[in-house]
Amino acid sequence: MTERSGQCMCGAVTFTARDVPATYGACHCEMCRRWTGAALVAATVPAKGITWTGNDKIRKIQSSDWAERAWCDACGTGLYYHVTAPGPMAENYEIPIGLFDDTRGMEMTGEIYIDHKIPSLGFTGDHSRLTRKEVLKQFGLAEDFDTLDDGD
Ligand SMILES: [Zn+2]
Ligand SMILES: [Zn+2]
Repeated sequence: MTERSGQCMCGAVTFTARDVPATYGACHCEMCRRWTGAALVAATVPAKGITWTGNDKIRKIQSSDWAERAWCDACGTGLYYHVTAPGPMAENYEIPIGLFDDTRGMEMTGEIYIDHKIPSLGFTGDHSRLTRKEVLKQFGLAEDFDTLDDGD
């Protein structure tokens, strides 16, 4: 856990975050795939420790019943994924790892929706790789749960 800073591509939005974990993960679900262009690779950062600048440039949409996604209105960089449904997940922001100024000492520790991964896209390391089915089970959701139901 350490303090790290970061910004969008154009610098209109910057942030500093306390208690950033040394670990991060990847999501290969269809929504993250389309949002990022390949996979969402992000660190889970406690919301209470994040200070944003350029708030007037931060735009967001409710991308599903349970979460919102934000971007910089000046350059289009994806800024965060945030669970809006009540619960412990709502206290964190998933901040794309590429936004951080310095990622030294950080390590990928898990991937989810691995069965939806784009061919040839692969992250190195000996970490967990959960299928969609395994993820839904972990969150106590039914197997016919459709992440795209209210996605757009
Ligand atoms: Zn920007
Ligand atoms: Zn996802």
